[in-house]
Amino acid sequence: MTRNTRGSLVRPFSLPDSASTPVVTPLSPSVVYASETPDALDAQYEGRVHGYTYAREGHPNADVVSQRLDAMEGGQGGLLTGSGMAAVSAVLLGLVKAGDHVIGGNQLYGRSMRMMAEDLPRLGVATTLADPCDAADMAAAIRPETRLMLIEVVSNPTLRVADLEGIAALCKAHGILLVIDNTFTTPKAIRPFDYGADIVLHSVTKLLSGHSDVTLGYVVARDPEVMQRLRIFAVTTGLTPSPFDCWLAERGMLTFDLRFDRAQATAAVLADHLAGLAGVKRVLYPLRDDHPDRDRAMALLKGQGCNMLSFELDGGRPAANAFARAAEGIAFAPTLGDVGTTLSHPASSSHRALSPEARAAAGLSEGFFRVSVGLEEPEALKSIFSQAVSAARAAS
Ligand SMILES: *Cc1c(COP(=O)(O)O)cnc(C)c1O
Repeated sequence: MTRNTRGSLVRPFSLPDSASTPVVTPLSPSVVYASETPDALDAQYEGRVHGYTYAREGHPNADVVSQRLDAMEGGQGGLLTGSGMAAVSAVLLGLVKAGDHVIGGNQLYGRSMRMMAEDLPRLGVATTLADPCDAADMAAAIRPETRLMLIEVVSNPTLRVADLEGIAALCKAHGILLVIDNTFTTPKAIRPFDYGADIVLHSVTKLLSGHSDVTLGYVVARDPEVMQRLRIFAVTTGLTPSPFDCWLAERGMLTFDLRFDRAQATAAVLADHLAGLAGVKRVLYPLRDDHPDRDRAMALLKGQGCNMLSFELDGGRPAANAFARAAEGIAFAPTLGDVGTTLSHPASSSHRALSPEARAAAGLSEGFFRVSVGLEEPEALKSIFSQAVSAARAAS
């Protein structure tokens, strides 16, 4: 019998007894936790016993998921946050001070990019973007006051692969914290701690949860002191997640392994299929022979190309509109890692703020699409994409 000894009369006093135990993690939405005495609370705050006090500070559903992610990433004591951007914010705002300098990859996730461009400078933190495929370019950006580097292993949306080993060596030599956003690659393709990363973070919203029904993030630091600072900052600023979101994420994560294998196998097939279609100018998939970083992808990701691919249609916006319209059953939606295949069009979404010249320089024409490959039958996807590419050709 679990007694709520401080329960008021409007609260139930106990849970029903059961000699058997649930096989599914119970959802624990309680915001507050009652203690027996002030002494008992002291013991908890002083870490002599484990217990929860207030949901913003931690709750069982968050701990169940963070322990799972710790095991996957090879980290310890990781923290769940209410979104991937909450994890990015905890790192970028919780670990730097005015006067520091931060270096970011030049193809970071859009909102991370915005923090680099707007929020950090507003708070007196200087930032520089550099090309993570080229360690020399990253090295050239280093200043005496550089505190951390934030990069993604595979960039969005051109799927370039970072020189993680080169960058890790630089960070080590200069005492810079190396932060890896491992959302696209996931710990199945790479565990950044194995390569010398100091901090790993995720948008758990994407492949890990996998069903587009929860936003959640995760961050883990190698150094327990850094981890403690991240945790205190996140709890203070309210970046921590709700029990229900964690519960949903855990449910999704049970099938992550299977979903990832299926989606990446299909992505490889679809990439080759697209490359053979008239009307497709180029296909970007890290394991293809024509990908500029193929060798690095093979070595770093151990032959795992992940589930993302991009391609460029001949023809401009009319071709793109015709493609999206004809791609029946494929959601044209700015996310990734869902059970269903989704399409995004950087020119009208993530990269719309860029000038047409800047977009062209980044290789993001009106015909450029990014595909997050889901769990559909590969043959069905091939046929939908063939038909949609034909429609695009007819319209261009
Ligand atoms: C989606 C995403 C984020 C942000 O995550 P949210 O859960 O949407 O806040 C950060 N980094 C990458 C690479 C992403 O794809």
